[in-house]
Amino acid sequence: MSAEYYTGEPIPAPRKYLDFQGFWQGADEGKLILQRCGSCGTWCHIPQPMCPKCHSVEKTWAPVSGKGKVYSWVTYYESPHPGFKAPYAVVLVELEEGMRIVSNLVDVQPKDIKMGMPVEVTFEKIAENFVLPKFKKA
Ligand code: ZN
Repeated sequence: MSAEYYTGEPIPAPRKYLDFQGFWQGADEGKLILQRCGSCGTWCHIPQPMCPKCHSVEKTWAPVSGKGKVYSWVTYYESPHPGFKAPYAVVLVELEEGMRIVSNLVDVQPKDIKMGMPVEVTFEKIAENFVLPKFKKA
């Protein structure tokens, strides 16, 4: 595992803002769902109130392939929070659809991460009512 947690510590969790509702609902169902413009179809990740291409405020949520490649990463050798076991890596995955998403890799040690490594989404329940999309080697 490249991101492990100390179970005795509270794990900081992102707030589930209304703008991210489709993303978190998808994660709970084991699907990677991202925002898409309801007018021109442009993918919008991170979710935003207005399409960056056509400025429409019509939004939809749609599944993506969940496949991509490691675009970049950073390894933490000291944990910024007592709930995270260091070392661990935070990766930036470029999805097949072109958007980039920040996540962790599972079952890959930070020293084994390679630029362009093919990955696919997986889901990890890290707390009650909290599922995170993560990525594994494809
Ligand atoms: Zn648009």
